[in-house]
Amino acid sequence: MTRRRDIGANSYLLESGKNKIIIDSGMDPGTAGLDALPDFGMVASNSADAILISHAHHDHIGSLPVLQRRQRGTNVIMTETTGEVGSAMLHNSVNVMTSQREELDIKEYPMFTHRELDEIRPSWMYRDFDKPFVVPGTEVTASFHNAGHIIGSAGILMKEGSNSVFYTGDVCFENQTIAKAADFPQSDVDVLIMETTRGTYERPADYSRKAEKEKLAKLIRETFDANGSVLIPVFALGKTQELLLMMHELSREGLMPSMPVFLGGLGTKITVLYDHYSERVPRNYPGFRLLEDIDILVAPQGRRRREITYQSRAIYLLSSGMMSEKTTSNTFAYRFIENPKNAVAFVGYTDVETPGYRLRTAKVGDQVVLNREVPPSTLHARVESFDFSAHASREQLAEYAEKLKPKKVILVHGEVPSQDWFEKRFRETMPGTEVLLPEADKVFDLW
Ligand SMILES: [Zn+2]
Ligand SMILES: [Zn+2]
Repeated sequence: MTRRRDIGANSYLLESGKNKIIIDSGMDPGTAGLDALPDFGMVASNSADAILISHAHHDHIGSLPVLQRRQRGTNVIMTETTGEVGSAMLHNSVNVMTSQREELDIKEYPMFTHRELDEIRPSWMYRDFDKPFVVPGTEVTASFHNAGHIIGSAGILMKEGSNSVFYTGDVCFENQTIAKAADFPQSDVDVLIMETTRGTYERPADYSRKAEKEKLAKLIRETFDANGSVLIPVFALGKTQELLLMMHELSREGLMPSMPVFLGGLGTKITVLYDHYSERVPRNYPGFRLLEDIDILVAPQGRRRREITYQSRAIYLLSSGMMSEKTTSNTFAYRFIENPKNAVAFVGYTDVETPGYRLRTAKVGDQVVLNREVPPSTLHARVESFDFSAHASREQLAEYAEKLKPKKVILVHGEVPSQDWFEKRFRETMPGTEVLLPEADKVFDLW
């Protein structure tokens, strides 16, 4: 393993002699069309030995079928839940791209088909957490380590001879409601490739997940008393299930009145998979089945997509989390936010260019454009934001790196100011460690 190349939206190439291993194959969620793909041109066709995938979020698995078309017959290795959930995500992505082809006139969409997805499935290999395996066709031994981010999410440790490199993927070092805190290697890592998502965010010193949860409960209670409802826009994978179980806890703890919870969008489909694997993955509440065991959940009925209708004194957990145009949360919000009795609770990340961000930063009385094809809505509802991040805080990430004291740290998955924060801190805390800030297509020597 001598070099590492960054090939764009969460896809990295590790090269050693003749061996080539690609880690992750994401799609940039903020871009459309071919621009959203990593630059796969850096790897000659059919030359990669293996593709390892850290988890099933779009920005890590979204372009896998395109990569596999260029790397035919290459083994794809991941955890079983990443494969099963990832498959559902990719099939959904075919549907989204198919409708965007018409709406946005993007000729290259869909970039892959349902049939193609079925055809590549047999080349996917599943490996358990903490069980080292030899990457086929190489001298590299790899292992997956629970990353605590979403179901199946893994950090990936690779060893060749006496050298080791560890890729964190997306990681959370504290317990979420369902996801158990990451269980990562604590020593013997020469090169650390680390995510830096939250490097620009300074968490208040008195932050606790529990207090944040109580703050959300207070908003729910006050909205209930005002005879309104609460809309919580959520990512389909991860946040939906975390929040659903949180609603169950709050209602059990008597912190919120008994009120129906509605699920909508892709989130329901993914929740089925969380339940299917409820006993087989590292998580809190093992065996607990969200769709069956939560009595306040209004179970989505039948296979056909049901129109979600408004009622007062209810909670709506709808995807997408950034309220992208035409998703369930976006459409539902047009009239919802015009009612002063209602409240919108943001519980995750919203990209600057998204309707979610516009709503989150709007003030009462503002006109908010949720969809460019319909007139703007006037905001009268309460809007609040909560920190239930599935990513580690910057301090937690920095402390992890400082414990490992690797020879090199490569900062990925973050914006420039975020990476600057880490670089500055590590210059003081680990002067002996080389800190690398990759740009797309940049090549590094790992050792
Ligand atoms: Zn992720
Ligand atoms: Zn990510």
